[in-house]
Amino acid sequence: MNIDREDCLSTAKELIGFLEKSPTCFHAVKSIADCLEEAGFTQLHEGEKWELTEGGSYYVTRNGSSIVSFKVPGKAFSGFQIMASHSDSPSFKIKENPEMEAENHYVKLNVEKYGGMLCAPWFDRPLSVAGRLAVKEGNRIATKLVKVDRDLLMIPNLAIHFNREVNEGYQYNAQIDMLPLYGGADAKGTFMETVAESAGVKKEDILGHDLYLYNRVPGSIWGAGGEFLSCGHLDDLQCAFSTLKGFLEGGHPECVSVHAVFDNEEIGSLTKQGADSTFLEDVLRRINSAMGRSEEEYWTAVAASFMISGDNGHAVHPNYADKTDPTSRPYLNGGIVIKHSANQKYTTDGVSAALWKQLSENANVLYQTFLNRADMIGGSTLGNLSGNQVAVCCVDIGLPQLAMHSPYETAGVKDTEALVRAAKALFESSVEESGYGSYRLIKSGC
Ligand code: ZN
Repeated sequence: MNIDREDCLSTAKELIGFLEKSPTCFHAVKSIADCLEEAGFTQLHEGEKWELTEGGSYYVTRNGSSIVSFKVPGKAFSGFQIMASHSDSPSFKIKENPEMEAENHYVKLNVEKYGGMLCAPWFDRPLSVAGRLAVKEGNRIATKLVKVDRDLLMIPNLAIHFNREVNEGYQYNAQIDMLPLYGGADAKGTFMETVAESAGVKKEDILGHDLYLYNRVPGSIWGAGGEFLSCGHLDDLQCAFSTLKGFLEGGHPECVSVHAVFDNEEIGSLTKQGADSTFLEDVLRRINSAMGRSEEEYWTAVAASFMISGDNGHAVHPNYADKTDPTSRPYLNGGIVIKHSANQKYTTDGVSAALWKQLSENANVLYQTFLNRADMIGGSTLGNLSGNQVAVCCVDIGLPQLAMHSPYETAGVKDTEALVRAAKALFESSVEESGYGSYRLIKSGC
């Protein structure tokens, strides 16, 4: 189960390029759509009638921040093979009326938290803003992506001399500690001007914005043997990227391959475009009806479907080894993590774990397991919420990483390529439940 190092390295570099192009969920969806366009996929719109053809490849977005793409083999498909992940990451959102004067000498920006981040690593590093604008164009409002592509902001730490106890532990107050410095007194009134200029629009035409801070530090491959990789947004764009690659390479003559990337996982998925919305179900139902199939055929297809909820997991931390469960100990470069939770915060059960293990073996890639210590609550993800809308056999997996929810996270160089291969294997397989508790993973053509 060894993947060639050159393959791992080239995929890791491609991943860093993808991450750097995707500073916000809107940019991530655009990056994915660009890959799909390049691969010949046709864009569909939810507000228009869908005309699908046998063998066609399509994608549809919702809110510009979630995207579902799919390949339809033909009318007589047996089920859906689904891989889901999320497009959003914790960050600081720029508030309305963001400029704040300080001491007649500075302009800083008013921000609020999006999701649950580690605050400390946002300090003392070059930051900028990116996101989406709602811009007046004649009698319409158009949405535009914007990324201010230069070092624009910084959140400077308070010197140790003003708080000698800071290293004993510090409680960050987002309204006081986390406001980024934007400029000197002369910068007053120019922030939205700067944003408008980057987007190529007029400041007075910007009627709305969803702007977030992003970390400017470029991605890096590092370590004694170049075995580690660090960048922003690994959670969860590392899963979105690798499953996308596997999705583009794979395909099945009798299953609809579905790649879904949802926004708002970090705040509970309960938005119109989140995993707990109707987005995925709407798409699957529309595929079914556009192919001229009955409601009954939809339900039999759902029953023969398999879903992967892909969201990064925690590797054992070298300095905090006792934070990890005593017997399930995932490591960077140790392969894809299968995530278990008795309370079903992760959807994995004995059957779906077994299917994933078999799939990993077919793809010749490593897997490992993650569970929280019994005395720790841990996080949750999108699989169980998506299951509220489309209930299918599901397994929660992810790639092992450190520093989750930091603006600069760390992963293993080998693991991305492992998920590319496992995803391809998934999209080339189907799952058959032959009744009486027996399941079969069938590789296409076998
Ligand atoms: Zn995540």
